[in-house]
Amino acid sequence: MLWADKIASDIRSTRKPRDGKTFLIRDEKTLSGRVHVGSMRGVAVHGLISELLSEYDIPNEYRYELNDFDPFDSIPGYLDTEKFREYLGKPLYMVPSPEAGFKNYAEYFGDEFVSVHKKAGFTPNYYRATEMYQSGKMDACMKTALERASDVRRILKEVSGSEKDVSWLPVSVVCENCGKIMTTRAYDYDGETIGYSCDRNPDEAKSCGHSGRVAPWKGAAKLFWKVEWAAKWVVQGVDIEGGGKDHSTKGGSRDVANHICREVFDTEPPYDIPYEFFLVGGKKMSSSKGRGSSAKDMGDLFPSELFRLVLIGKDIREQIDVDPQGESVPRLYDWYDELAEEVRAGAADDRTRLYALCALPKERAALSAPWEMRFREVAFIVQMAHLLLAEEAARVKGSALTSDEKQKLDERARYAKFWLSAYAPEEFKYELQDVLPAVELTDTQKNALAVLAEFLKSREHTGEELHAKLHEMKTSVPIAPKELFQVIYRIFLNRDSGPKAGWFLAGLPRDFVLTRLEEALQ
Ligand SMILES: [Zn+2]
Repeated sequence: MLWADKIASDIRSTRKPRDGKTFLIRDEKTLSGRVHVGSMRGVAVHGLISELLSEYDIPNEYRYELNDFDPFDSIPGYLDTEKFREYLGKPLYMVPSPEAGFKNYAEYFGDEFVSVHKKAGFTPNYYRATEMYQSGKMDACMKTALERASDVRRILKEVSGSEKDVSWLPVSVVCENCGKIMTTRAYDYDGETIGYSCDRNPDEAKSCGHSGRVAPWKGAAKLFWKVEWAAKWVVQGVDIEGGGKDHSTKGGSRDVANHICREVFDTEPPYDIPYEFFLVGGKKMSSSKGRGSSAKDMGDLFPSELFRLVLIGKDIREQIDVDPQGESVPRLYDWYDELAEEVRAGAADDRTRLYALCALPKERAALSAPWEMRFREVAFIVQMAHLLLAEEAARVKGSALTSDEKQKLDERARYAKFWLSAYAPEEFKYELQDVLPAVELTDTQKNALAVLAEFLKSREHTGEELHAKLHEMKTSVPIAPKELFQVIYRIFLNRDSGPKAGWFLAGLPRDFVLTRLEEALQ
């Protein structure tokens, strides 16, 4: 059984919605800049559980928070530091958008992130953190947290070992003078207002020195985030919410939030789904800031169903690791094609189930798995100006392509071209050499090329026939396969490795091949 089916069936058999009607599934992301693809794992885990509950006809809502109330705590490298420095420490919704056309910084980055959710086929109901606060919905929990601040401090100490001063309150006030939230210290809650002073200077955020008292309601202050996490569950009645591994350790933020939820808000925390990291080229979120690591960059690399495979294909206890600049991309296409093969073979197992889940729910009932040419082959052929992709594909398939297959082929070609131009490693880039590259041939290689030339002179051959001939030459010449293939790639592509040689040669004009062989033999 796939991980998602296990979880969905566990929820079905052990849980009831808090409101007696609809399971509420929630996830969130703080929009502090371009979103790393790691955050897409949460989007997909929650989204898929929502889809599966719906499959069982279990009413559920998937709600996603675009967190625009957390502080702007660092300036991403791709933005103008001078322009943004003055906003450090302000809530994200008070930071201007890097580009015109968006209400603020959080909306700008949120818009891009939401477009990636859509690409992967997930469409939760979105809301903003500021809506929760400014509407007053968070006020009751904030009041409780302030009244029971000593319990919050005790839990922080017991669960995570974090000691807070006895005057510490679990809120951050938005300074009435400078608008910053990261620079303030709150103390002395009198039941209606709290005292605060704007005198902290964390990182590069500069405080203004103002101090005063403020009623913390309706967005004038924000809960400390581990308390806030629990408060969001309570206020909305969240039934199901997972979290990444970084939050899920003992004594970690989830653990603290669970304790606060139970002990301060007297509520059971939601059903947890802890999931592993999404690495990019072996690196974690914090250390992978390069091209290819954002949700948008990763989404751009794949058609929707492949992107879903990336996100949901691995068990949540396993890491996902994709390196756009390595072999991961063709390997993922191979994986998808293997699943499709199972579907065409009429199997019904975890692999065909996974293939179905890569499609959108509405497409699952009438699912077919059209034949597709391997991504590696597509990526090779699109680099060979003289080859027609559709013709080559029909040749490999052994019959004409259906319109579905043709459409898939065109799509795959577009993604292959993009990958080749943006990320692909050198070994996937081929350039047919117009003139014979400088090459030193051994006598054995010369013999082999002469035999090959003779064979080709007689008539046209298929890839299969050429493949058989090349293998037969291992004993007839004789020549080691490596020595033979190397010389073929060398004289045509000026490199030591390449695509399957038989089909490669069959795809080239015969005159061209013969001329090149003769030149090499001189
Ligand atoms: Zn201030």
